[in-house]
Amino acid sequence: NPLLLLNHNSHNHRHLLPVPAGVRVPPRRVVVTGGAGFVGSHLVDKLLSRGDDVIVIDNFFTGRKENLVHHFGNPRFELIRHDVVEPILLESKERNDIHYFMSLRSKLNHGYKTNVMGTLNMLGLAKRIGARFLLTSTSEVYGDPLEHPQKETYWGNVNPIGVRSCYDEGKRTAETLTMDYHRGADVEVRIARIFNTYGPRMCIDDGRVVSNFVAQAIRKQPLTVYGDGKQTRSFQYVADLVDGLMALMESEHVGPFNLGNPGEFTMLELAEVVKDTIDPSATIEFKENTADDPHMRKPDITKAKELLHWEPKISLREGLPLMVSDFQKRVLEE
Ligand code: NAD
Repeated sequence: NPLLLLNHNSHNHRHLLPVPAGVRVPPRRVVVTGGAGFVGSHLVDKLLSRGDDVIVIDNFFTGRKENLVHHFGNPRFELIRHDVVEPILLESKERNDIHYFMSLRSKLNHGYKTNVMGTLNMLGLAKRIGARFLLTSTSEVYGDPLEHPQKETYWGNVNPIGVRSCYDEGKRTAETLTMDYHRGADVEVRIARIFNTYGPRMCIDDGRVVSNFVAQAIRKQPLTVYGDGKQTRSFQYVADLVDGLMALMESEHVGPFNLGNPGEFTMLELAEVVKDTIDPSATIEFKENTADDPHMRKPDITKAKELLHWEPKISLREGLPLMVSDFQKRVLEE
């Protein structure tokens, strides 16, 4: 990853130049919306550890202060409770020094409005300030894919009125808005399409399969498999994703880039890994499948490998044990 420096001769702060060896980089100020969440808080750890200033904006809808409490008292860290559906004014005459926006809000029930209004508000702010904007989109933009594995050039197969559509279509619209601001208003943007990611601090009960299985195994409950369990997913460890997001942010490529681990597992195979890791005596319970559940999902990451020089390093068998103690602690606190 080459380091990048803001060219302060340029009025709009947009031109990033490689830093010659030995030159000190002034700290950058990064706004992370959704920074109290799972992925966001790991990203904040990384940004602060490399010396950046970080402002987190979060309404604690699914995020938790506990994910960031280790930074309280750090003068380079600020936390603002705010719903990004409402505009926020962070700029001032004296302080126009925000360089990056990383947008990491989540799905769930008000997914469409958050994704669309939140993205619009943050793009407006990025435009006014001349900051670079990174959108964390999702593999869900591919819907139930008719192409396998999915390349970034695939347009997707999404049911616009389905039960999952507020999230899928919300992210698709967020991508459209991001490209619109890029083309029409010259905002520097980056788009990541994130595939299933797991790790410590993941929400325990938001219905994702890894967190479901891990929490069930710890609680000594059967692992619930929807449908026949032969549908596939790929699972990426959160540290790999954070490295990918940082590489994308610093690169000169807009994207979109698939960021995911191409290792593909059926739900039954995942259940086996969870059993081996946590409790070999755990049982499996089959339930009726949910509507519009994609049959398979696997990223083609050729583009990220070539242009970002990034690829995930941590396999499912290596990564899964790394989230167990965090989950055990939180399940015990319930
Ligand atoms: P998360 O729910 O842990 O984090 C989302 C954060 O956004 C939370 O802290 C939440 O409180 C905050 N938030 C939600 N609505 C908000 C609002 N209106 N205003 C301010 N803050 C708000 O989810 P995550 O897994 O960390 O996901 C982060 C991003 O990555 C999301 O954009 C998600 O769509 C994307 N993504 C994640 C995965 C994954 O597997 N984890 C996969 C694909 C895409």
